[in-house]
Amino acid sequence: MGNNKYKILVIEDEDKIRNFIKMILETNGYQVLTAATCMQGNDMFFSHNPDLIMLDLGLPDQDGSELIKAVRKSAVTPMIVLSARTTEQDKVSALDLGANDYMTKPFGTGELLARIRAALRNSRHSAIMGAVPGGTFAVGDMKIDYDRRMVSIGGRAIKLTQTEYNIVALLSEHAGKVLTYTTILRKVWGASDPGSIKKLQVNMANIRKKLGTRPDEHKYISNELGVGYGMLEDDA
Ligand code: CA
Repeated sequence: MGNNKYKILVIEDEDKIRNFIKMILETNGYQVLTAATCMQGNDMFFSHNPDLIMLDLGLPDQDGSELIKAVRKSAVTPMIVLSARTTEQDKVSALDLGANDYMTKPFGTGELLARIRAALRNSRHSAIMGAVPGGTFAVGDMKIDYDRRMVSIGGRAIKLTQTEYNIVALLSEHAGKVLTYTTILRKVWGASDPGSIKKLQVNMANIRKKLGTRPDEHKYISNELGVGYGMLEDDA
């Protein structure tokens, strides 16, 4: 389960605040990535595909709102803005650009964790990823427990990486339907750079291996060559 933790990217130039948030989040079971500038944050976002971004607006190289715009061009990843700015207009413009929530510094641990849980729960991203409380999915002897982000076959847990899990969960949300490479890439990685189909195929090959199915065997997941993949539906 260790590699199935939610991954949060914290972009904040003040060391004290950044370290405080990192410590709180790690203590509470989140995986944390950090950046101190807009540019670093941008690089981290596109290379690590976090589940949520916490973002300071007053960054040394650029205004944080530039990053909100850049992320929203390609991804629905929830973003919580952290700022010392307190006017309504600042909040409205951050939200209009696509931020999910807004926190004014200073804030306490309880508020921080509550807002993160809410953003993960409410975001379209988490709905797509199947983070619906109490939900399960089954096809044949394969079962997905969305709460625990766990896939099992015949009761035996399958160890998937976070990306592999996200792909399987996404396909299951649309069971019976073929999702195109582009759709899967956009929803799982956030950005659709041309090199990514290969990346998706590599992940799919690993998923098949872990699920114990041969490449030509359409047991849980169908492979529509040149088009995409689909999760089969239980005909029971
Ligand atoms: Ca700052």
